[in-house]
Amino acid sequence: MADLSRLSLNTITVREQLTLRQCIEACARHGIPCIDPWRDKIAELGLANAIRHFRDAGVRPSGVCRAGLFTAGDPVATRDENRRAIDETAALGADCLVTIPGGLPAGSKDLAGARRFAEDALAELVPYARAAGVTLALEPLHPMTCGDRSIWSTMAQVLDLCDALGEGTGIALDVYHIWWDPALAAGIARAAGRIAGYHVCDWKVPTRDLVWDRGMMGDGVIDIPAITAMVEAAGYTGPIGVEIMSAADWWTRDADEVLTVTKDRFAHCV
Ligand code: ZN
Repeated sequence: MADLSRLSLNTITVREQLTLRQCIEACARHGIPCIDPWRDKIAELGLANAIRHFRDAGVRPSGVCRAGLFTAGDPVATRDENRRAIDETAALGADCLVTIPGGLPAGSKDLAGARRFAEDALAELVPYARAAGVTLALEPLHPMTCGDRSIWSTMAQVLDLCDALGEGTGIALDVYHIWWDPALAAGIARAAGRIAGYHVCDWKVPTRDLVWDRGMMGDGVIDIPAITAMVEAAGYTGPIGVEIMSAADWWTRDADEVLTVTKDRFAHCV
């Protein structure tokens, strides 16, 4: 059972209800110590204001979402955007910057080539992150996203990259993306010492939409406490992000209700 002192609310869980400023105030009111902020929400409020509101409310920014998307567009523009994301993460004093690679470039079927391209772009970015004191939390996504969002599908793929690139990289473990993996236990054990973030939600059966229908912890089929135990056995004691994209359900509810249920499920189902 997870302690509330480790709860970090991902702003996407209340994306439709709250601005970042409102989210910070709501977390302070609910005793939620951390927030994983998305960059569009930071931009909306302004970086300097975001820094000030976090500080004044006594709420800590944990994992900034997100960077990467190396395969998605113009390489120079992408590099510059990723450097800005690193600068923002450093300015906020957040724990890490969640990084995903992007999917196949439009019109391409060259998956191996896309992976090489993303690895090269990541390798070029790591020294910039290191110099800023920022850890890139590389997040493998469920293989169903390989075409459009992430050509890193397994923990093994990402840990190979961490092995190759070293300081400045770590892995973000999200139960939604790793629970199905037959090598789950081995992957988490191998990640020991390199876990930069841990995200929870649940996998509903049936799932009506593979991106926007994530479940609240306890409403699906993932044995979250078992995964949490593995993550803790691997030495991770940092914040646990609650990241629920739920267009038809949680995004339609009152934000205070969402936060109340989130705290209850965090205490009993994580
Ligand atoms: Zn995640």
